[in-house]
Amino acid sequence: MSVEAWVREFARLVTAEAPRLTELDSAIGDADHGANLSRGLNAVVSALDTSSFPDDGALLKKVGMVLVSTVGGASGPLYGTFFLRAAGALGDGFPAAFRAGVDGVAARGKSTTGEKTMLDALVPAAEALAAGKDWAAVVDAAETGRDATIPLVARKGRASYLGERSAGHLDPGAASATLLVTAAATTLGA
Ligand code: ADP
Ligand code: MG
Ligand code: MG
Repeated sequence: MSVEAWVREFARLVTAEAPRLTELDSAIGDADHGANLSRGLNAVVSALDTSSFPDDGALLKKVGMVLVSTVGGASGPLYGTFFLRAAGALGDGFPAAFRAGVDGVAARGKSTTGEKTMLDALVPAAEALAAGKDWAAVVDAAETGRDATIPLVARKGRASYLGERSAGHLDPGAASATLLVTAAATTLGA
């Protein structure tokens, strides 16, 4: 299966889960994560529908640029950077591209694991991919990382403004990042 199918499946899952993502963001943020991402991914799907690309790298680069330009808030530049960096590393295979994307998020966000962000789902998934684990284990790594954000105190993004009060809630970006991994397993793991 293609990276185009991956991106389209991510868009489908985010659209379906948008109310839930926004609800998570209402607890520790500004209640816009689902709306932000689904708006951006709708624009991505429109771009995919109306353009053709010479290769998958060019396609992922377009995805990144559309997300950067259409998603407000922290998650737009971060997911945009993920796809732009992944685009540049696709020639080295999917695990390397995914790793490059995750490293891009960390660099752009000046963030690391344990800070209650999307990286808590993305980094374990990248590590499982690099270790050659099967897709079920990769998804499990993302889900475990996502769920482990619940007790954490947020150190980055809007949730960090809450300090200790951010603990006890699942991070919305870790939830959407798990959808990115699930979409990869569904489309690329087949
Ligand atoms: P905003 O907080 O600007 O409204 P969103 O609600 O769309 O943006 O996205 C919030 C999510 O972005 C958080 O749940 C978190 O996972 C992620 N995030 C925020 N800041 C960072 C960062 N510096 N590094 C990694 N992820 C971050
Ligand atoms: Mg928000
Ligand atoms: Mg916002």
